[in-house]
Amino acid sequence: MFENQDKTHLEELGEFGLISHLTKNITLTQKSTVKGIGDDAAVLDHAGKKVLVSTDMLLEGIHFDLAYTPLKHLGYKAIQVNLSDIYAMNATATQVTVSIGMSSKFPLEAIEELYEGIYLACGNYNVDLIGGDTTASKQGLVISVTVLGYADESEIVYRNGAEEGDLICVSGDLGGAYTGLQLLEREKLVYLENPNIQPDLEGKDYIVERQLKPEARKDIVDLLKDMDVKPTSMIDVSDGLASEILHICKQSNKGCNLYEEKIPIDPMTYETAREFGLDPTVCALSGGEDYELLFTVKQADYDKIKFKMDFTIIGYITEPNAGCNLITKSNNVHPLKAQGWNAFGASAQ
Ligand code: ADP
Ligand code: MG
Repeated sequence: MFENQDKTHLEELGEFGLISHLTKNITLTQKSTVKGIGDDAAVLDHAGKKVLVSTDMLLEGIHFDLAYTPLKHLGYKAIQVNLSDIYAMNATATQVTVSIGMSSKFPLEAIEELYEGIYLACGNYNVDLIGGDTTASKQGLVISVTVLGYADESEIVYRNGAEEGDLICVSGDLGGAYTGLQLLEREKLVYLENPNIQPDLEGKDYIVERQLKPEARKDIVDLLKDMDVKPTSMIDVSDGLASEILHICKQSNKGCNLYEEKIPIDPMTYETAREFGLDPTVCALSGGEDYELLFTVKQADYDKIKFKMDFTIIGYITEPNAGCNLITKSNNVHPLKAQGWNAFGASAQ
């Protein structure tokens, strides 16, 4: 994939040359960054706030496929998936470190593309790149990002705070990243069988972007603050709605009722799922990688949130003995399961 162009071998630069090349134009914007790249450790001062830390690692062949993932998008996504975890705590993200392991098949230009995406994400979300590590790998590309953020103790929202009667809300729409992935995988197979056929992603930009270039929902955290609504619990949707609501219910020791007809699914997601013979609801429940925010709010806040277009009320929290249920469009009650939840279309209706 990197043939036919003049490329710079990484050996020409060496490790330190590479690091300084990649980080030479860094500008730091966060007050809390006292020292960024260039010493044995970065130095931060969060001035009396609680500090939040989260890490996510992306492995080639497991989390991404370079056959259809542009490196710039990959860099962007690696930052977004980490920011999403900080926003899911109702906190502000401020710094990231980026560690990469790469084989010698990657020329400098490829790593530059990756960093273009990393810097774009950092700029868009106002976080400083303050360090990382660079190593060779025998095979494949590895990217590990650590994100730091801060919040007042009273602002932090955990997974365990949901109370009976709370409304369950989710931002944006679900299932798009998964159907986008199905499409990319299909076009990859078509291409492998006949490299002369161009990928057919016509009109599918939205779901392809949902897969390749997710946006962490900082805007929702800001919006909730503006509305003076503090969620009682929150989590980001990385593994699918079912898995995430089960985390909230388990940690809060509660049950829930979710309404299938309320689950927000974009028409393109719906149509594409059908094309693949998939149930769109199952894509939303088990697909994952949508990086939306799932949260609960007190019923008393209903008037503040009822006209908001940025998120949807999809159910409510119940007492634990009621279990975690999906109420289907045909009014059947199904226990929610985290994975392989496919009894729905077949046996249940
Ligand atoms: P050390 O030998 O102390 O681990 P390095 O030579 O690995 O130091 O790193 C030098 C500086 O460059 C450090 O500030 C480190 O955080 C930063 N750094 C190393 N690799 C990366 C990278 N891939 N992206 C951003 N910063 C990096
Ligand atoms: Mg190092």
